[in-house]
Amino acid sequence: HQYTLSIIKPNAVAKNVIGAICSRFETAGLEIVAASMLHLSREQACAFYGIHQGKPFFDELVGFMTSGPILAMVLAGDEAIARNRDIMGATNPANAAPGTIRADFADSFTANAVHGSDAPDTAAVEIAFFFPEGVCP
Ligand code: ATP
Ligand code: MG
Repeated sequence: HQYTLSIIKPNAVAKNVIGAICSRFETAGLEIVAASMLHLSREQACAFYGIHQGKPFFDELVGFMTSGPILAMVLAGDEAIARNRDIMGATNPANAAPGTIRADFADSFTANAVHGSDAPDTAAVEIAFFFPEGVCP
């Protein structure tokens, strides 16, 4: 049993596909154990993606992530981190396998529909960022 942070990004929220994406999680055996809909400030987006500061795509990424509401969630399940990244598909939707979330719902490299933690340590930091009070037992 493992936890991972998932974000449904602004382009997917704007397309009204929250339900379709959450259904993919549930079908893959991932359980939604916390959820928060919010509109990130510039400061919050810069902090969340701090590791990418200085990269050429950073300003575009922060602009996109603050362009509208997002849905942050904690997903739980066996191998939740890897399982979530499998069903998300490749970061660049041009390389995302058919049937993955990004293949079906991404609009561009930046507006790629979903975020998923990439390792246990980053998952812990990212979950604490959005859910400092913890998740339901
Ligand atoms: P995420 O962290 O959002 O789950 P990821 O781990 O697959 O995605 P990262 O390398 O962490 O990819 O990049 C974070 C986000 O920055 C990507 O999801 C994408 O929105 C954006 N991004 C990354 N690389 C590029 C790029 N070369 N051009 C445009 N946007 C990019
Ligand atoms: Mg990442």
